[in-house]
Amino acid sequence: SFHKSKGQHILKNPLLVDSIVQKAGIKSTDVILEIGPGTGNLTKKLLEAGKEVIAVELDSRMVLELQRRFQGTPYSNRLKVIQGDVLKTELPRFDICVANIPYQISSPLTFKLLFHPTSFRCAVIMYQREFAMRLVAQPGDNLYCRLSVNTQLYARVSHLLKVGKNNFRPPPKVDSSVVRIEPRKPQPQVNKKEWDGFLRVCFIRKNKTLGSIFRQKSVLLMLEKNFKTLQAVLASTGEAAVMDLGDQNMGMEDDDNEMDDDDDVEMDEGQGGEFKEKVMNVLKEGGFEEKRSSKLSQQEFLYLLSLFNKSGIHFS
Ligand code: SAM
Repeated sequence: SFHKSKGQHILKNPLLVDSIVQKAGIKSTDVILEIGPGTGNLTKKLLEAGKEVIAVELDSRMVLELQRRFQGTPYSNRLKVIQGDVLKTELPRFDICVANIPYQISSPLTFKLLFHPTSFRCAVIMYQREFAMRLVAQPGDNLYCRLSVNTQLYARVSHLLKVGKNNFRPPPKVDSSVVRIEPRKPQPQVNKKEWDGFLRVCFIRKNKTLGSIFRQKSVLLMLEKNFKTLQAVLASTGEAAVMDLGDQNMGMEDDDNEMDDDDDVEMDEGQGGEFKEKVMNVLKEGGFEEKRSSKLSQQEFLYLLSLFNKSGIHFS
């Protein structure tokens, strides 16, 4: 029996498995990382295509079944199974990742891969359809959101294959898509935490103008606090504060889960007026006041963040 809570939906269509492996472009010299091998339908084809498969599987019953399946075959010495939660496992070096993952770990897993310390060629991953469409969405698309901008900063993302739910046993509730994620080389030189904090603000309401988002009291208070903290640090040490604050969760907690109208009180004139003006001047300088995040490109976001930072305004 399968564990719903572990997202166990086994690929039962061999043609589909072939097609995923073929589209992944595996070389015979590749070390392949597979996440959630389950009973090993995909694993077998990966072993045929590459040099070595390292498979991370949470469920000990599946690990046993997998080992039994390849025992005594020529594949057994080219398969390494790691039992554990992939989110808590230190990943090995690999060339390519191919996986039909449990959908509940989509977001943290994607960023774990993107921030993997050693470089890899690409990841070919099955996601729930809507998540996949968010990953690849472009400015102006309905599903364009923080996840799209965030992912596309670190990787080139493309949609490879639509997969109906009946290719799985048991069938999941939703359709799926296979996506290709290719880390950009070199990786962008941004402060991850700063970038993430900035996007969180911009996407509080993706269809509101940036002018009205940045006039919100809660936003201005946060930015002013950061500003004052940094000024104090600069004044006391006389040198730039080191602000590499490490990785953070950049997932897609629902971007639909936006603030209630009650929360976005706009700042009264006179109250914090000077700092508010400083923020508004940055928006005006770049021509962003009337723009909306739903239509901004990655380059525009990067540019706006650089303007803020140049004025001493920080998001982390
Ligand atoms: N790859 C197989 C296939 O395509 O037939 C099975 C895919 S199934 C959607 C997901 C697999 O991931 C299950 O075998 C499940 O036990 C495993 N899994 C669930 N959570 C996991 C986690 N946190 N780390 C590693 N494996 C996990």
